[in-house]
Amino acid sequence: MIQARGYAALGSSQALRPYAFERKEVDARQVLIRILYCGICHADIHQARNEYGNTHYPLVPGHEIVGRIERVGPLVTQFNAGDLVGVGYFIDSCRHCSSCAEGEEQFCETGLLPTQNGKLPDGSTTKGGYSDVIVVDERYVLHISERLDAPAVAPLLCAGITAYSALTHGPVGPGDQVAILGLGGIGHLAVKFAVAFGAQVTVLSSSPQKQEPALALGAHAFIHTGDKTAMKQANRRFDFILDTVSANHAYDPYLNLLKKDGTLIVVGRPPQTPQLDPISLISRRRKIVGSFIGGMAETQEMLDYCADHAITADIELIPPVDMNKAYERVLNGDVHYRFVIDMAQLTQ
Ligand code: NAP
Ligand code: ZN
Ligand code: ZN
Repeated sequence: MIQARGYAALGSSQALRPYAFERKEVDARQVLIRILYCGICHADIHQARNEYGNTHYPLVPGHEIVGRIERVGPLVTQFNAGDLVGVGYFIDSCRHCSSCAEGEEQFCETGLLPTQNGKLPDGSTTKGGYSDVIVVDERYVLHISERLDAPAVAPLLCAGITAYSALTHGPVGPGDQVAILGLGGIGHLAVKFAVAFGAQVTVLSSSPQKQEPALALGAHAFIHTGDKTAMKQANRRFDFILDTVSANHAYDPYLNLLKKDGTLIVVGRPPQTPQLDPISLISRRRKIVGSFIGGMAETQEMLDYCADHAITADIELIPPVDMNKAYERVLNGDVHYRFVIDMAQLTQ
């Protein structure tokens, strides 16, 4: 066994604290990754606080992982010791079902194994990236370009692919009127991608002070969702709205901003079911679709696209001791736009 150290939540109302545990030895097709950086996704907070009622404690969160390969199993062919690599939301899937065969492992029919809080056959659970090392089958590891700033790549592994996949499946293209609802981790990367795809991008935000930063990210317009006049003026303006909001909210006010045949793409998962009046859909033949991270091939495509277009996240790098403070700041909307934990500073 490999001795690992990290941070864990031991209960829904408890702060994360230092935690020692064991990982299984490297198998023939697995690699041992020394974790350098791990992003704090809002899903980590939902899960640490058991907001969906399915958390197994102790929970070691973290699925926006960047690290370097330290050791490879004898049958590994795609990676070498020293490679800069990434691990995202999942570390295994059944590999046989139609979704896996199509390279959309995130929709695996039987066996998606999340990087954190995933049930293993022996009854234990997977432990995520708020830790010093992780062992992963090479099929679920991604290549990262040395051209990119490694800490700022970490959020691409979940927030980035979530935004990229949702927008490319839209499909969002040149000239489309696109609104990004919620300017957080996913939202700010969605602005960068939508602008790169040639869309006309508006940020819809509950935080009026985000106007200047939104425009600095490349957005063409900004609407404070609390401004009733501006919201009314935006009626039927957009082809797509990407909803990244993590808190409870109604869908109706945003559906009304879509054109005929417009699409609300939902990625945010609030704890409570959002309010929805069917007339918001019926009156203009509007659609609501969901999107969930991305498959392995698409995630590699996104990372390569980011290397070619110099896209990374805007981050605040923090030592592990500050992660509880960071959780509070995320909940208060006080993050620009992703906290990334510097795992090399793990001292306890
Ligand atoms: P985040 O960084 O915390 O951003 C969420 C944004 O939602 C905030 O920046 C804020 O934007 C808005 N918001 C927060 N509280 C609000 C409130 N009370 N009223 C209105 N707006 C509020 O979160 P994230 O990491 O981007 O994740 C967003 C959501 O997506 C979470 O629910 C997460 O679990 C989910 N998620 C889904 C996927 C997927 O594959 N579908 C993947 C990762 C995460 P403004 O200040 O601009 O309003
Ligand atoms: Zn995530
Ligand atoms: Zn499968």
